[in-house]
Amino acid sequence: MVTISGGVISKQNNTSITYRLKCEKCGHEDESESTVTVTVGLTEVTSKKCPNCGNRQIIKMKISMN
Ligand SMILES: [Zn+2]
Repeated sequence: MVTISGGVISKQNNTSITYRLKCEKCGHEDESESTVTVTVGLTEVTSKKCPNCGNRQIIKMKISMN
């Protein structure tokens, strides 16, 4: 099970998850994608600058058992 804030998942399979920034300030969804390997227990925290409004958006993703 994957939970994400500050971003949206665009692709997901058994081995990898691809996500994009979704700015919480202006709602912009970025076109550039990031991919992480599926690891149960992984918590991924990254920050990206929104190209639309300049907000530095924190993206938090957690992968846990169902
Ligand atoms: Zn924005």
